Amino acid sequence: MSKNINCVIKVGEARADWWKKHMSSLLPNINFFLMRENYEIDKIDLAIVWKPENGWLKTFKNLRCIISLGSGIDHILCDPDLPKNIPIIKTTGEDLKMRMREYVVLHVLKHHRNLPAVTEARNTHQWKQIIEPPANKRTLGIMGLGNLGLDCAITLKNLGFKVNGWSNSKKNIDGINTFTGEKELTKFLKQVEILVCMLPLTPKTRGILNLELFNKIEKEFCLINVARGEHLVEEDLLKALENKIIKEATLDVFHIEPLPIKHPFWKNSKIFITPHIASLLDPEAGGKEIAKNVNDFLNGKQVDNLIPPGKGY
Ligand code: NDP
Repeated sequence: MSKNINCVIKVGEARADWWKKHMSSLLPNINFFLMRENYEIDKIDLAIVWKPENGWLKTFKNLRCIISLGSGIDHILCDPDLPKNIPIIKTTGEDLKMRMREYVVLHVLKHHRNLPAVTEARNTHQWKQIIEPPANKRTLGIMGLGNLGLDCAITLKNLGFKVNGWSNSKKNIDGINTFTGEKELTKFLKQVEILVCMLPLTPKTRGILNLELFNKIEKEFCLINVARGEHLVEEDLLKALENKIIKEATLDVFHIEPLPIKHPFWKNSKIFITPHIASLLDPEAGGKEIAKNVNDFLNGKQVDNLIPPGKGY
């Protein structure tokens, strides 16, 4: 069979050759080119990308589909010159879900059982019994009930927590109190003690974690952001910590990554920082998922996680 489908790959240089080899072995009937190689621009059908430069994708006049090397697509949609009529397939799957579940459960339990205070007591040689309420007396708020958020919400419900979930469209999920859209945001937040952001970054959600939202929560609460740094208004987090609106925060994502050495977050002991590692795409598992999605797309089948033009996430 002749190879008449061409795909360009734009990934970090460290693994670029590996990706080309891996994808060529999974999809032997497709010609793969790295961004830096020679290819005929007008013959490119597909692009597999992570953080493409603004204006680059519009140079492919016959592009049929963009594949995001990750479950967020904000790194593609931020291009002002992005061709408007091309579908995007995001890469997600079981592996990513499992890793995110581990991270979110770990940090929810850390805040729930007040591990920072337990650690401090241990480090100062104090036998101090810190008693927290059981999970069924604690309300968690999960912002975003998509591929990753829903899985975490169900897992946390199964651990016994009272779980509130917030999404764009109405959902009925056994054992979870669901809230929809802006009109139910205040009700969703009211009783929350640990708030987890698992929203996509869109014009509506950028800056959503701000003082106005924090003030809608009745008790002092803990914040976990695993979504995107731009969801959080950073100065507002510092103010909320200072004013005891927020007790502690766990952040995996930041406006600027790596987090600059002089950033005030580093010095604040109430902010637990991880370097965007909540759930990294495993290249082996991700490659297989891309291969399946690309085959389905080329064969005109329904594609999991295909985002139609204009949807935004
Ligand atoms: P999905 O697109 O599957 O789900 C998004 C959810 O957010 C949906 O439930 C959607 O509602 C809801 N939502 C979107 N916009 C709004 C809005 N304006 N108001 C209320 N709800 C809204 O996303 P994923 O679960 O795949 O990813 C979640 C986040 O995690 C993303 O930001 C992604 O970039 C990030 N991520 C971070 C990683 C890390 O390592 N830190 C790794 C992987 C992902 P509806 O269901 O009604 O459409």
